[in-house]
Amino acid sequence: MFQLDPLLVWEWYLYRLGVCFRAKANAGHLAIASMEKSLSNRFTLITQNIDNLHIRAGNSPQRTFQIHGNIGLSRCSQSCVPELFKLPASLFSACKNQSLSETEQKMLRCHYCKSWLRPHVLWFDECYDEEYFRFDSSMNIAAKTDLLIIVGTSGSTTLPNHVTNLALRNNACIVDINPEDNPFSEIAVNSPGGMVFRRPASEVLRQLADCCPTPAVKDA
Ligand SMILES: [Zn+2]
Repeated sequence: MFQLDPLLVWEWYLYRLGVCFRAKANAGHLAIASMEKSLSNRFTLITQNIDNLHIRAGNSPQRTFQIHGNIGLSRCSQSCVPELFKLPASLFSACKNQSLSETEQKMLRCHYCKSWLRPHVLWFDECYDEEYFRFDSSMNIAAKTDLLIIVGTSGSTTLPNHVTNLALRNNACIVDINPEDNPFSEIAVNSPGGMVFRRPASEVLRQLADCCPTPAVKDA
């Protein structure tokens, strides 16, 4: 669709971006941010979310792998440079189907080659990589982890499945938090010490975050 009608795709994305920008981090995001504060370099967040709310809640960009990209960023659709560009807030649309002025359209052109920029989001039929989506980093950390907490994913994309399989191979304890049954539930209950919470993520994550050591406790 982007190849057929980039402007239409941008209008849709800028509306979605406006929705994300106005959203606020919830108790689940805040609990995950407090886990990183407590666990420091023993913590990594691999997220399928593209709304940047984890970073806004306080997780660090270094320890947050946004494996499906970030809707607030763009890059050259012709890959003339690898650079990511932050989209100006003036472009965030408040309404659906809002058409873009010529000036706004110019802001969506690559600064170098003038081709269309594209949203920095992994689309269906595109591949994960390390440079943009931290694929290798996610695999490496999954292979070493002792505890994998899976929150609210249905497992319909490949990377979360790879992460779970690698953690399982490392004999990690796997915890699944999801109000709905999903492919990870059975894997979790069969992992060493693993369990399933059929309750809202915000509630369970707060309780788990409260079990983490206080930030003053240094790593052994
Ligand atoms: Zn370019």
